[in-house]
Amino acid sequence: MMDFKRFKTFMFDLDGTIWKWTELLPYAQKCVNDLTKKGKKVYFVTNVAVLSRKDLAGKLTKFGIPATEEQIISSGYTAAKYFDEKGIDKVYAIAERGVLEELNKCDVNTSEKANHVLYSVDRNFTFWKLKRAYDLIADGAALYTTGMNKYWSVGDEIYPAEAPFLKAIEEMTGQKAIVLGKPSDYMKKRVFEDILLFPEDVLFIGDSLKTDMVFANKCNFCSALVLTGSTTAEEAKNAKGQEKPRTILRTLRDIVL
Ligand SMILES: [Mg+2]
Repeated sequence: MMDFKRFKTFMFDLDGTIWKWTELLPYAQKCVNDLTKKGKKVYFVTNVAVLSRKDLAGKLTKFGIPATEEQIISSGYTAAKYFDEKGIDKVYAIAERGVLEELNKCDVNTSEKANHVLYSVDRNFTFWKLKRAYDLIADGAALYTTGMNKYWSVGDEIYPAEAPFLKAIEEMTGQKAIVLGKPSDYMKKRVFEDILLFPEDVLFIGDSLKTDMVFANKCNFCSALVLTGSTTAEEAKNAKGQEKPRTILRTLRDIVL
């Protein structure tokens, strides 16, 4: 068993690791609150962008895991900071309130006429939004996304995440989206700039090989794959290269200090 005591900072993915959106996963509350009680630093690094950081913190708090906005690095926030840093003040955003709020906080305006198209999960995606994205990209606009997940688990239901609709935009335009959430280099830059840390002190826990494990390994964090989400034990065991977790947890109960 891994010595978890040596880590000073614990970073958690949200979907499939802490919750299934409408319900907490077993042991999540106890695990996070025990770490906090023992003086460990806890952060949540997520590609969930339908809610702002503030609302994600509120949702965690309601679930009995007290959290603040500063403990959350979300892909919507990361995308907004990216545009802000690049001096991009206008984007066409196919996205929900969470992303729009983060853009607004960084003074990035949304417009139907822009040189940058941002896609995130949008439950009101339409034929016309796809046409608008196509028109802008055909005129030279760049395409970005907050993530590339296929699925979004809500309780026992599977909903589409970013990839299915993003593929429609990519298919029509022939342009590949630049990812701004996990596992991108920009998300890594955000985490290192926002949080003062030494990589060797960090345990990163997530349920996805392609987003979480690649991200954690890229950051030189110790990577832990938890089997409560999108990855089977078989897939975890057979993972290779950057996707390979340093350790595999059945549930968050396995984290014992
Ligand atoms: Mg996840």
